[in-house]
Amino acid sequence: MKTIEKQFKNVSYLWDEQKAAALAGDEVALLIYRSNLLGADLRLTNYGGGNTSCKALAKDPLTGKETEIMWVKGSGGDIGTLKRSGLAALYVDRLRSLTNVYRGIDAEDAMVELFNHCIYDLASKAPSIDTPLHGFLPFKHIDHLHPDAAIAIAAAKDGKKITQEIFHGTIGWVEWQRPGFDLGLKLKQCLDDNPGIRGIMLGSHGLFTWGDTAYESYINTLEVIERCADYLNDNYGKKKPVFGGNKITSLDKAKRLEQAASLAPVLRGFCSSHTRMVGHFTDDDRVLEFINSNDLTKLAPMGTSCPDHFLRTKISPLVLDIKPHEDLSETKELKERLAPAFEDYRNMYQEYYNTCKHVNSPAIRDANPVVILYPGVGMFTFAKDKQTARVAAEFYINAINVMKGAEAISEYTSLPRQEAFNIEYWLLEEAKLQRMPKPKALSGKIALITGSAGGIGKAIAKKFADEGACIILSDNDSNRLKEAEEEFKKQYGKDAFASSLMDVTSSSQIEGSMKVAALAFGGVDIVVNNAGLSISKSIEDHTEKDWDILYDVLVKGQFLVTQSSISIMRKQALGGDVINIVSKNALVSGPNNAGYGSAKAAQLHLSRLNAAELGSDKIRVNVVNPDAVIADSKIWAGAWAEGRAKAYNVKVEDLPAFYAKRTLLNEIILPEDIANACFAFTGGLLNKSTGNVLNVDGGVAMGFVR
Ligand SMILES: [Zn+2]
Repeated sequence: MKTIEKQFKNVSYLWDEQKAAALAGDEVALLIYRSNLLGADLRLTNYGGGNTSCKALAKDPLTGKETEIMWVKGSGGDIGTLKRSGLAALYVDRLRSLTNVYRGIDAEDAMVELFNHCIYDLASKAPSIDTPLHGFLPFKHIDHLHPDAAIAIAAAKDGKKITQEIFHGTIGWVEWQRPGFDLGLKLKQCLDDNPGIRGIMLGSHGLFTWGDTAYESYINTLEVIERCADYLNDNYGKKKPVFGGNKITSLDKAKRLEQAASLAPVLRGFCSSHTRMVGHFTDDDRVLEFINSNDLTKLAPMGTSCPDHFLRTKISPLVLDIKPHEDLSETKELKERLAPAFEDYRNMYQEYYNTCKHVNSPAIRDANPVVILYPGVGMFTFAKDKQTARVAAEFYINAINVMKGAEAISEYTSLPRQEAFNIEYWLLEEAKLQRMPKPKALSGKIALITGSAGGIGKAIAKKFADEGACIILSDNDSNRLKEAEEEFKKQYGKDAFASSLMDVTSSSQIEGSMKVAALAFGGVDIVVNNAGLSISKSIEDHTEKDWDILYDVLVKGQFLVTQSSISIMRKQALGGDVINIVSKNALVSGPNNAGYGSAKAAQLHLSRLNAAELGSDKIRVNVVNPDAVIADSKIWAGAWAEGRAKAYNVKVEDLPAFYAKRTLLNEIILPEDIANACFAFTGGLLNKSTGNVLNVDGGVAMGFVR
């Protein structure tokens, strides 16, 4: 019975008869079920790419009569996670009657507005530009996907002939055309001209397949894509080696990551000349096969084919002219070498804009590259946030697959530049961009917080993540760090953070954390020196060991972490923030505090010295002075709290209230209060402040800065 699964090698057959049977009779539920299965296999379509639909009878609330309705994926979203709320439901007859008012291809964009007059379910998602592509075809269930295997054929020079050959005329062909009302009519025309076909290949774009039931559509889609993939597999390396064979060999894995980490902040600096960008790096085998090949120089400048691919990856990638093993340690020299390459890229983009623009085109956008290829090492992508950068990398891998397939069976063709421009600067696309929510205060910023697995450090990390920053969690306690990772994954998702085990007294672990930041996000903008410990002892009890650990963690740790982060910030040349969490004790003298209090004073003065030295790099160094933050603190968990309680003759649980009473405002200080102070320094309103101290202690007159 399950033999059907076995006939697929290149796609995943995931249909579960029991699950589907439970949905029988509910065509919309079956559409969602099928969509989620299709979206679960990235070989079938790229993230967010493609759309699915069904047509069924439903009661018209106006007439009470059964009428034909189409449910189709609405604008935005991904079929892998599609829900009812992601669908648009439209009256089929109304949608088709729009042909009566259609004035021709130059006016097709105006039709999008009219789709809203065809809406059946008032809770519909906005209908997408692809709506008429589904609406004019008569089939009950339709899948429109962007499978690499099919696009490879669709983007091959003689794709039409090859499609005919593989499918013996059972798959139609429609030449490349920008999606819209007119393409919907072309699909219908293709079906009328070729009755009985099981699908249509869209030149340079993707695939349409269908069926009378959700299952028939699913199996038809899988079969067609499987056959495309089989055909490609039979041809790889047949006429010539893949991508013309290897030109260079990759560095080994460790060396690749070392080179990438060293280069990423420099690239990030160049790519952020217009808007601050976040990076992503991958040395995926499919990337290396392409960037190490003889054909790289021929194929990379051609750009991608499927519109989805190049909207995310820009017209073409920047290929670096650096040897894999070159010494990248001389930043100044490296920047001088790279500057002309970026200049050339921006000029190329400007020229593309100038030659292709129309009178009503939106203004030119950021001219920096999104995809940067470093032969022998890997691929960097840059975008306004981590998810967008990561998805751009995935899309470029889709594009690589397409080029590989098309070159194996014929010759790869990309979209003509004018067509690419018409999509990139499409007014409907521009409207979509204008509707995007405003970036948050720390969007595009990368923050590393030491000791951030708990207490104040974790509260700072959360505040920064809430404000849009990418976070590097770091701590010397691996168990606590794991718990924090789980918490962040649940609360913010995997793109929001990276993590690194780090003891701030170890320069090699600090270097390791900076490398994590460079590989995960492209660099670092904000460093919070928060890791600490406290020891309260009288002079006679205070050991040399106590003294050393206090000074190692608090003073040397702050120095080493700052020193290491500065080298990345200078590579980026985007300024930066160093926030040092010090203490009231840096200013206030009391008994039994010689080691801790003097180390805190050293941290404070070190901050001012750093501020004086780093101002010319636009790197600000500021201090937050907390006092008596007890909640979720490791320091307060053990002997310290007991010691303080004993000293003041109160119970441990009464300490917060006791400390509050000593303050002018009678307030208990929470980790979130310290986090807010850190955000005040970094959120944009205090960009002209450095060398400052902000007390967050409920008001302690002795701690006033003089
Ligand atoms: Zn499409």
